[in-house]
Amino acid sequence: MTEADLLLRGARLLTLAPLKEEHPRVGPTAGDVGPIVNGWVAARDGAIVATGHGESHDRLQLVESAVVRNAEGRVVMPGLVDPHTHLCYAGERWEEFATRRSGADYLAVLAAGGGIHATVRATKEASDETVLALLRRRIGDAAELGTTTIEIKSGYGLEASEELRQLRLIAQAKADAPIDVAVTYLAAHALPAPYTDDRAGFIRDARGALDTVTAEKLAEAVDAFVEKGVFEVDDVRPLFAAAKKAGLAVSLHADQLNDVGAAAFAARIHARSADHVAHASAEGIRALARAGIPAVLLPGSAFFVGYAPPEARRFIAARVPVALASDHNPGTSPLEGMPTAIALGVTLCGLTPHEAIVAATVNAAHALGRGDRTGALVAGRRADILVLDTDDERELAYRMGAPLVAEVYASGKRVA
Ligand SMILES: [Zn+2]
Repeated sequence: MTEADLLLRGARLLTLAPLKEEHPRVGPTAGDVGPIVNGWVAARDGAIVATGHGESHDRLQLVESAVVRNAEGRVVMPGLVDPHTHLCYAGERWEEFATRRSGADYLAVLAAGGGIHATVRATKEASDETVLALLRRRIGDAAELGTTTIEIKSGYGLEASEELRQLRLIAQAKADAPIDVAVTYLAAHALPAPYTDDRAGFIRDARGALDTVTAEKLAEAVDAFVEKGVFEVDDVRPLFAAAKKAGLAVSLHADQLNDVGAAAFAARIHARSADHVAHASAEGIRALARAGIPAVLLPGSAFFVGYAPPEARRFIAARVPVALASDHNPGTSPLEGMPTAIALGVTLCGLTPHEAIVAATVNAAHALGRGDRTGALVAGRRADILVLDTDDERELAYRMGAPLVAEVYASGKRVA
């Protein structure tokens, strides 16, 4: 008899179970949430053991201390996965927020020493304790809003030694985090002053830091901001080659503001994901589709800064797996939580509500190389489960800002 220590029953259950084998959902399955009316999900020791409908959970053997919840009139679905955040920073950017509404030029702000450089200074000046406390609070806030897996990048250190400091702080926050944390070394975010005339030297030093990253197991992926006038494809090629050689995954900030061929490059190097991609060319989109690489759409910066949002229909039509992320960062996307990203994914990017839910769960899990571990309510996966205080999950996209997250379980433990 199957034993369970957690049972959520009577719900509108969204399993997001794959039709056959697990792979990112594309084309007609991009909005398939696999609903079960009067459904249940059971877990044991942090992993899902079974799902079903009606009273068929009677055949489970509930252990003595089992938690049993009646979720009648509610939606039970996989925990949300946020595959792209910059949570590791100190200092807010109120002035910049106030002055560059309506599409003020990010690259001009950057060239004037503002933007990211303000955050780099504030983070460098903050003590380890301060940064760690901020990280822990932000991870907790994400969990409260339904996130059970979150990616966190370094990237506000710029120089290798400061990047390593941030990665070590993220590792500390990960160690006692209530949810799963995927750490990324954002090795090339902007060029710091000492390297103004030596882009190649900067990349060389970032590559040098990879030895420490792998020796201390500080990150599972390496990222770069591939953009006109920041780092171009040729600049980052040696960095990504070295990362892959070291056994790390790679992901890119690709074609966010200009088409620099980064989406096609992501496909060529078998990146784990290509993120932003608002200006990806048709050729770049076709290349992502052929390689099956998720495009992570980040509507937050379009909303806050006024950029053109990525057009989701271009990616769905081409059968590119689409994921959504908060892109939480103090400069261009200070938004909190995946429900807001889902709502913006629908209103700004053109996803349907169900496509946005797929994009924020199983496809986002694939964007983090975790497509077989979380993102769907399937036996054997981590018991990352969300209970919504509504009987229609589309409300996530429709009633933006509504407090719909009622219960959050990460690895079978209630975290919010
Ligand atoms: Zn980003």
